[in-house]
Amino acid sequence: MAKIKAIRGMNDILPEQTPVWQYLENTVKDVLSVYGYSEIRMPVVEQTNLFKRSIGEVTDIVEKEMYTFEDRNGESLTLRPEGTASCVRAAEEHGLLFNQMQRFWYQGPMFRYERPQKGRYRQFHQIGVETFGMANADIDAEVILLSARLWKRLGLLDSVTLQLNSLGSNEARAEYKAALVEYLEQRKDQLDEDSQRRLETNPLRILDSKDEKTQSLLDGAPVLSDYLDEESREHFAELTATLDAAGLSYEINPRLVRGLDYYCKTVFEWVTDKLGAQGTVCAGGRYDGLVKQLGGRPTPAVGFAMGVERLILMLETLNLIPEAVRQPFDVYLAADQKGIQSKLVLFADQLRDRFPGLRVRIHCGGLKNISQKAQQTGAPVVLLMKEDDNQSLCGSLWYQGEPAFDLEIAQIEEKIASVWQAK
Ligand code: ATP
Ligand code: MG
Repeated sequence: MAKIKAIRGMNDILPEQTPVWQYLENTVKDVLSVYGYSEIRMPVVEQTNLFKRSIGEVTDIVEKEMYTFEDRNGESLTLRPEGTASCVRAAEEHGLLFNQMQRFWYQGPMFRYERPQKGRYRQFHQIGVETFGMANADIDAEVILLSARLWKRLGLLDSVTLQLNSLGSNEARAEYKAALVEYLEQRKDQLDEDSQRRLETNPLRILDSKDEKTQSLLDGAPVLSDYLDEESREHFAELTATLDAAGLSYEINPRLVRGLDYYCKTVFEWVTDKLGAQGTVCAGGRYDGLVKQLGGRPTPAVGFAMGVERLILMLETLNLIPEAVRQPFDVYLAADQKGIQSKLVLFADQLRDRFPGLRVRIHCGGLKNISQKAQQTGAPVVLLMKEDDNQSLCGSLWYQGEPAFDLEIAQIEEKIASVWQAK
């Protein structure tokens, strides 16, 4: 019988890889906690209408990427393609938004029916940040600086570029949209096929068309920044001034519009040239209108989401994963003679009691070539134990390949204590 395989574009993350994921996740958690953000966890399935109403009917996600199915009671449900809509839904449902200032983060799998390729999957993972109740540009600056701090911690800051733009108010954007459509209508036959279709449905998306002819046509098109309302202009100036003062460099990309309907004012992306076509590792912006659009009271909001797989690809490509990350234990403990296995189990637990956090793995199974096998685990500390004439444990210890033979238990513990302290 044919074996059943995983679904295309949905990956297993194997034990060899999970330490790298944990390293990234823990680093993100550290950074978020020093900014005082709180974690929120939402279900992976929501009512389909939540995404239709928030992301927008004429976006790639809603038009062709959602995993939508009928529940047994006939209700239309969707595997979440992103986290912002769910986060707003949850926060609003539990009364966390009205008249409050909130800073949340979440992580987990997202689902989009896309063509799987390097850096693009059907189940992928995001870590997202959403803030609510803060209208001024200081919070826009904070979330951007927070992401920059993360890149710095991971050693990625030199390999990513911050792109920034302002979409202005809804009114300003509507006015710009009309001007853009008018310009492009007159040149419709020169547009690529996708852009021709978008001219009717979502003209701003034409700005990030990958088609070269379309891009050169856009060189002469009206520019969004000329249409910005005064308030958005000031908001953006305050943001860039704060980033300047922080010494963070950025590029203003007047064609950055983002795929989703709900953004206004600030939008930003962190992009890299290290990953080929899938170059955006983190993206976000302000979405002051979304809470109201989903039935709540008007609430300013700004957030972003990063693609975990793409960040891991970057860390691997650039060789930035500390070696210790992949080593799942500090001590490999093996018996050098038969019949002492149960003593070893107890000894290992004593070590764990005495040195909290010390990771000890015991060798279970045959003792053939045990010294060699134990060395090959690559553990910083390798211990080969036996019994002396008084049936007390004793043994030999290798620290980073350097052997010390015939040690008593007290000497072994002393050596482990020094390794543990250094850790
Ligand atoms: P793209 O233009 O690459 O399709 P997007 O604008 O659709 O990205 P967002 O909805 O802004 O992406 O999601 C935020 C981040 O999540 C992206 O910048 C990217 O790093 C990651 N991401 C999005 N879709 C996928 C996917 N299918 N597989 C892996 N990562 C993804
Ligand atoms: Mg996409």
